[in-house]
Amino acid sequence: MENKVYLKKLVEELHSATVATIGADGHPQTRVIDMMLWDDKGVYFLTAKGKEFYRQVMEQQFIAVSATKGKVSVSLRGKVKNIGSKRLDEIFEKNVYMQEIYPDDTRTALEVFCVYEAEGEYFDIGDPSHVVRDSFVIGDIKTKQIGYFVGQGCIGCKLCYSVCPQKCIDISGKPVVIDQNCCLHCGQCAEICPKQVIEKRS
Ligand code: SF4
Ligand code: SF4
Repeated sequence: MENKVYLKKLVEELHSATVATIGADGHPQTRVIDMMLWDDKGVYFLTAKGKEFYRQVMEQQFIAVSATKGKVSVSLRGKVKNIGSKRLDEIFEKNVYMQEIYPDDTRTALEVFCVYEAEGEYFDIGDPSHVVRDSFVIGDIKTKQIGYFVGQGCIGCKLCYSVCPQKCIDISGKPVVIDQNCCLHCGQCAEICPKQVIEKRS
């Protein structure tokens, strides 16, 4: 699906996301940041110039984002850039609660960042026996295929299907085919395959 469906969901429905950077001690560090705007160039958030998070994003220019609500999640991992006070007023108009957190001119403490080149993943387990996953990108980047794929040499024994928790392997032909939009990436099929023809791409 087009990325705009997922970016809209991230900003307008999930809104508050866990954002990871690398801390000064070299280990991952997370905090919750609201995703304020989205458009065809990416997703926008803001933070105050005095925060350690600001310093880390300026330095690393890369973040990982995950947001969830109910049984739906959207994740992003990619490049981020500072756009200063550009779009700050628009963010305050669209997210009116910000006007109370930073009243009057105090919003000058803030700067806006844009996630402009990223790989994203959508996951919906609302119907647990039929999970839905999808991947998308922001910006002009090539996607890497990740997950489990059946290669040549499949003998159609269906053992993979027998251990698949989602039954998301089409066994009507040979080689059998994994439905990438329903696969949990659990690896059960690859482990049991007697021909070892199921490849993990990561
Ligand atoms: S990785 Fe797991 S969910 Fe995906 S096809 Fe294999 S057994 Fe099924
Ligand atoms: S277990 Fe391996 S050989 Fe058997 S159907 Fe599945 S992919 Fe093909």
